[in-house]
Amino acid sequence: MILAERMSHLGTETAFEVLAKANALAAQGRSIINLGIGQPDFPTPENVVEAGRKALADGHHGYTPANGIPQLRGAVAADIHRRYGHEVDPDLIVCVPGGKVTMAFAMLIFGEPGAEILYPDPGFPIYRSMIEFSGAKAVPIKLHESAGFAFSADEVLGQINERTRLIILNSPANPTGGVVPRSEIDALVAGLEKHPDVAIMSDEIYSCMTYEGLDHVTLLDYPSIRDRLIVLDGWSKTYAMTGWRLGWGLWPSKLAPLAAKLAVNTHSCVNAATQYAGIEALEGPQDAVASMVEAFDRRRSFIVQRLNQLPGVSCVTPLGAFYAFPNISGTGLSSGALQNRLLEEAGVAAIAGTSFGILGEGYLRFSYANSLENIEEAMDRIGAWLTDNA
Ligand code: PLP
Repeated sequence: MILAERMSHLGTETAFEVLAKANALAAQGRSIINLGIGQPDFPTPENVVEAGRKALADGHHGYTPANGIPQLRGAVAADIHRRYGHEVDPDLIVCVPGGKVTMAFAMLIFGEPGAEILYPDPGFPIYRSMIEFSGAKAVPIKLHESAGFAFSADEVLGQINERTRLIILNSPANPTGGVVPRSEIDALVAGLEKHPDVAIMSDEIYSCMTYEGLDHVTLLDYPSIRDRLIVLDGWSKTYAMTGWRLGWGLWPSKLAPLAAKLAVNTHSCVNAATQYAGIEALEGPQDAVASMVEAFDRRRSFIVQRLNQLPGVSCVTPLGAFYAFPNISGTGLSSGALQNRLLEEAGVAAIAGTSFGILGEGYLRFSYANSLENIEEAMDRIGAWLTDNA
């Protein structure tokens, strides 16, 4: 067999590998606390599950329009208006099986050999993987621990050249929990006015998870870039629906038909029942979301406090998502070594910062989508292990 050259450029998300290893150890009878996986530990709200069940019982078993049923796209537009006060055309929304698909489509639309795409590092590993798969050059945007893992607008603007096609932004962020301040986004957008051919993909999948009274800053707030802005969001994190596979992209009018065409060519449509569940998630009561975010907030304060007490570890306070990204360089171990030894010897799964980019060396990602009791036990185990070994 002779494979396409591009296959050698495809990366992966090592969180899934750590999960498999943690599960294998647990199957051998080991006690493993999993702070590796990036998904809410809450079930999908019952009203949403019921809407999916009802859709199946009502006979919604067939194909739907490739970009999603009109009621679902209308519900997304209404939700955008409710949350941000912006009017958007439901026909510019393309519903897809998860946030990752909007990402993949953006890379396929813009990426090719000779093109450059900017992406955050440390960042969600699929950005770089899909950029390189498309044939484009992946250019890292450095995130600064000292700035709560925000980027510097001047640095981003300084990396743009005539080959730059797309800039990927992600706030609140995976893996750092960082939130980019509005002032930095203002400066970036002002600078982008000089680069009218550069598109922006804003991954806002954690938009509902900000803390300390911060409001999420959506790139939709900036009309000057609306005609080249792709907003990625979805149901996975907000409604604890990672396994349902449902996300949305809001595309500029030139690109929405292309995204819908890619949908026709790849998956036809999101499964129909999930789309009905998605409508109920957006239109039904939102109290389950509020209580989940409150629980994350309590765990956030707790884990950050405990991480900062560990020898050789310091952790800036994350302001969004459900991740803490402590600096572990004081332990004297590399990220990969610490990840492996904590899993094998202390029974705690966390993810090496290097899984999220070259600039992730010296960090570990902890997901606090786990109970306070488990987080406490994990911190006790890590503390004892570091005292004995580091
Ligand atoms: N974007 C970011 C930053 C993520 O962390 C994730 C999932 O972890 C996704 C997108 C993908 O979400 P989905 O599961 O909806 O494909």
